[in-house]
Amino acid sequence: MSVVLVVNSGSSSLKYQLIDMSDETKLASGKVERIGESMGIVTHRTADDRHETETPVADHDAAFEQMLRGFAEYGPSLDEVPPAVVGHRIVQGARRFFGPTLIDDRVETDIEELIPLAPLHNAANLAGIRSARRLFADTPHVAVFDTAFHTTMPDATSLYAIDREVADKYRIRKYGAHGTSHKYVAEQAAAYLGQPLTELRIVVLHIGNGASACAVEGGKSVDTSMGMTPLEGLVMGTRSGNIDPAVLFHLHRKAGYTVDELDTLLNRRSGLLGLTGTNDMRDIVARVEAGDERARVGLDVYVQRLRHYLGAYLVQLGGGDVIVWTAGVGENSAEVRRRTCERLEWLGVELNLEKNAAAGGDEIREISTARSRVRVLVIPTNEELEIARQALATVGGE
Ligand code: ADP
Repeated sequence: MSVVLVVNSGSSSLKYQLIDMSDETKLASGKVERIGESMGIVTHRTADDRHETETPVADHDAAFEQMLRGFAEYGPSLDEVPPAVVGHRIVQGARRFFGPTLIDDRVETDIEELIPLAPLHNAANLAGIRSARRLFADTPHVAVFDTAFHTTMPDATSLYAIDREVADKYRIRKYGAHGTSHKYVAEQAAAYLGQPLTELRIVVLHIGNGASACAVEGGKSVDTSMGMTPLEGLVMGTRSGNIDPAVLFHLHRKAGYTVDELDTLLNRRSGLLGLTGTNDMRDIVARVEAGDERARVGLDVYVQRLRHYLGAYLVQLGGGDVIVWTAGVGENSAEVRRRTCERLEWLGVELNLEKNAAAGGDEIREISTARSRVRVLVIPTNEELEIARQALATVGGE
């Protein structure tokens, strides 16, 4: 049995999954939250149980110890199902990593070197790699980069129109994110339609708390809405997405905002949260239905930005064969999907409103009408499974 341990090590949390790759089933999963705070929360799930404990978790080493405790106490025993490989989710691989990569000391150093491009994320990812390599010293470790899928973007879509020397010196360009998810659902879409991925033009809308759109042509990312960092593009749960950069000069000059304060404003206090006071789409839609004006305007801004990117990418692809909705909002919010796809019949996009409104499970759902030229699918994403597949393939497993 080929088993893969997938770890996603964030700045204050560690998420993990143990996957049996013979049938791609999840054997166990868990998360350790509030690392470094006075009290942490540890959750370990097996096929039939969920165990939650509160305990202080000082750092990433301690978080991995908690994960091991979860396996030892609640199963499955890692002695009985030892992982053949550990797959690590890494946020920023820039133009250094073009695919999944077997981790050695050199790769660790390279990931460390990319920390300035993704300060919070890569530092936390690296802490996870170091802890995991200590604990699983005889197991191969593979880094799977969120940016790798987007390394096929041409200069035309990934360069910013700033001084080339400054851009090159500081490696400023669009790298994108969510690449593992975009790749996974694009492949799922092709399999569902029974058409080769190489012949499809797909717009993927990965809309969760973080959100990005991706134009996929022949299985390759040709543009994506996130930029050098995940701040650019769509309106997100707490991130502003696109904004005139001069707003930052203005806030600095007129209101004395520091760089850190601006960072916090745009990354943590903006988006749906900033516009409406909450970043949960369920609450926002309920408030709109109840006549709440602030929620209505917030949702309008959110949907308008989605339409902006959908239109741009359909033009860029010279038309579209498929639109894929995925992640928390994309998979669950019929209202956001309906409003984004409204009045697009002239573009060949027509939703079947009944199918769109029906609640979905883990299955792929087609929500366009039979005569819609562009087929619209809802596909549950599974980044962990994609990381596991890539990690196993990298070490020659199957
Ligand atoms: P993350 O970017 O953190 O991975 P997710 O993909 O899990 O985010 O998406 C989380 C978001 O999905 C929530 O903040 C919420 O707005 C939205 N969401 C989850 N379930 C529903 C639902 N049933 N209806 C509408 N929105 C939902």
